[in-house]
Amino acid sequence: MNTLRFDFRSDTVTRPSAGMRAAMAAAEVGDDVYGDDPTVNQLEQRMAALLGKEAALFVPSGTMSNLLALMSHCGRGDEFIAGQDAHCYKWEAGGAAVLGSIQPQPVAHQPDGTMALVELEAAIKDEDQHFARTRVIALENTFGGRVLPVAYMQAVAELTQRRGLGLHLDGARAFNACVALGIDISVFAAPFDTVSICLSKGLGTPVGSVLVGKDALIDKARRHRKMLGGGMRQAGILAAAGLYALEHNVARLAEDHRRARQLADGLAAFPDLTVTAPDTNIVFVQAAVELEAAMSRFLADRGVGVGGQYGQQRWVTHLDIDDGAIEESLGVVRDFFGA
Ligand SMILES: *Cc1c(COP(=O)(O)O)cnc(C)c1O
Repeated sequence: MNTLRFDFRSDTVTRPSAGMRAAMAAAEVGDDVYGDDPTVNQLEQRMAALLGKEAALFVPSGTMSNLLALMSHCGRGDEFIAGQDAHCYKWEAGGAAVLGSIQPQPVAHQPDGTMALVELEAAIKDEDQHFARTRVIALENTFGGRVLPVAYMQAVAELTQRRGLGLHLDGARAFNACVALGIDISVFAAPFDTVSICLSKGLGTPVGSVLVGKDALIDKARRHRKMLGGGMRQAGILAAAGLYALEHNVARLAEDHRRARQLADGLAAFPDLTVTAPDTNIVFVQAAVELEAAMSRFLADRGVGVGGQYGQQRWVTHLDIDDGAIEESLGVVRDFFGA
């Protein structure tokens, strides 16, 4: 049982609001595997239109969405290139390799989170019987809460087009990036063949992600979704939460970003903590390993949950963190340092 008063571990911990629950309860539904759920269809059409793509597919999780994208770009014995710390390489239980027979080729990140274009290009395999066939590059934005520049994504798209590869975006928090940049999500999504968006993070729904992209790729993904057991029936109840979130929870991400900056400023006042200024809703804090562990325990005892390990903490702001939560949590940190 989670007894935390303020849960900064992730933006996945939000509980659906009364308004969202009402929208879910009122949803018109049908059997989505038959294509009969009007609310799922509406969400998919709305997401495709928002991102300026041909089609979209509602799926249970961001992990499945990334896997479906990779399986749509790649066949057995093909390869995808992704960052060494990319979610789709490091944090998805090796699903692409296990379930898709797709080989990962990780590439190191530069300090700003991007992968050097020359290193990306060097990682692309030539056509040769010795090599797996490189089919797609996967970028992630935001990456660790950082916003990577649109110009960088466009430069990678120039590379993938020149080399005849696909380009996928793990845009789990793409709306955070767009709100931070002040740009339309269609501009952000333009360089990509497929984009995965999480509805269950900052947007605050209980379940769901959407994979958006070209018709041919989404058709394949739909087949693979069924194969992986992700074909849901009266899923309109969940899709209704997504539609509600698109209406009510996008612009307000700016509040999460403001609170993350407030939190970062507050934490930076303690000389033992090194705080990275956040671009969006994730604050990283470095401290000596022992001190960090003691601080995390102290915070948890006082009902403040933070993520992290080995001298690094992760504080994530979201719908269920208001101004009071920031203030009170900083108060607990002050108590810890005995100020
Ligand atoms: C959370 C996340 C995912 C996966 O989402 P789940 O719904 O938890 O499977 C994928 N990529 C990134 C960058 C994420 O933060």
